[in-house]
Amino acid sequence: MKKLTDFKNYLDSKKRIVIKIGTQVLLNERGKPSIYSFRNICAFAFSLINQKKEVILVSSGAIAAGKDLLGINSESNNFSIPQKQAFAACGQPILMGHYDSCFKRYGIKTAQVLLTKEDISVRKRFTNARNTIYELLNNGVVPIINENDTVSYEEIRFSDNDHLSALILNLVCADLFIILSNVKGVFDKNPNIYKDAKPVRVISDIKSYIKNFKDITKSPYGTGGMNSKLFASFIASSAGVDTVIASGKDKKSLGALSEGKLSGTLVTSSEYKINKKKHWLLFGMEKYGEIVIDDGAVSAISGKNKSLLASGITDVKGDFKKGCGVYIIDKKGGIVSKGISNLDSEDILKIKGLSSEEIKKKFGKDKKKSYLVVHKDKMVSNI
Ligand code: GLU
Repeated sequence: MKKLTDFKNYLDSKKRIVIKIGTQVLLNERGKPSIYSFRNICAFAFSLINQKKEVILVSSGAIAAGKDLLGINSESNNFSIPQKQAFAACGQPILMGHYDSCFKRYGIKTAQVLLTKEDISVRKRFTNARNTIYELLNNGVVPIINENDTVSYEEIRFSDNDHLSALILNLVCADLFIILSNVKGVFDKNPNIYKDAKPVRVISDIKSYIKNFKDITKSPYGTGGMNSKLFASFIASSAGVDTVIASGKDKKSLGALSEGKLSGTLVTSSEYKINKKKHWLLFGMEKYGEIVIDDGAVSAISGKNKSLLASGITDVKGDFKKGCGVYIIDKKGGIVSKGISNLDSEDILKIKGLSSEEIKKKFGKDKKKSYLVVHKDKMVSNI
């Protein structure tokens, strides 16, 4: 897109859109789910569907809806994990009930998709989830995704739904990401304090923008904040997907956006794009351990795009199995790449520092002692 006035044509070219809806968007000023807000969101989604686009929603709000159901009025997020999980279990059907009844007005069917971090991290589960969502889209159903909060405890959960939805982009091969929250986009300073705060219309270098950004917008109900939205935009941009960060509260600006007038901030993607499999590897796959390498291996991997061989390995940290995600780090602890290990950690420890001849001599044809530890096609470098 050359100019913002071309936004209409630009939007016309986008066929599959992931819309992330923050908790705040769905609540009224008393912290209760607002049917009016659900209607606005569904009207917005429908106007895109009417333009022959496929829409996937990632919606927060289950915890807040569950809290409301149980009569808990506190704005605080200071609840135990089982408490939050119970709120989500109560709130998720309420959330779906509102979406379902609002979409019904347009003759649109909905489906609930609850995912955990493992569903993204394990490649087989990732492709299964993808197949299910494609089947829903083929049937004209709007998938409504949320994290499966009742089974996701702190260590294995997404940091928030901004993060989850950014990973969904790759899962569904989306063309555009729209993050709707209670803020009107990115501002150069806090618009609630500074009258002269100016909206930032386009961010074209998201990596450097994030480096200099100070968050000013964290809300008491959701878990996100602008930092997490910008980081989600960075993940999106690495998948080659642009992000619009806009208000989901303002009916007029939602209407304008669906008609092709940019409201909010557009984060463009160009520079950091990597292929889909490597994107999953970098952002979707969990890391289970670290492999420390010498300087020669650092330059072979990051400079010459070579595979990691046993001879360049000096140490292994963590206990992991073949097929697990690992960071490959230099002797000072700097991350050189992320990849999928070809061997169990205990086997790497036995062959570290050895050449292929030495390994053959010592272990014969034992497949568990292959000198190739991380293949270059299963590795992302310079991250
Ligand atoms: N999954 C949580 C919920 O539905 C939301 C997490 C977030 O706010 O990002 O309440």
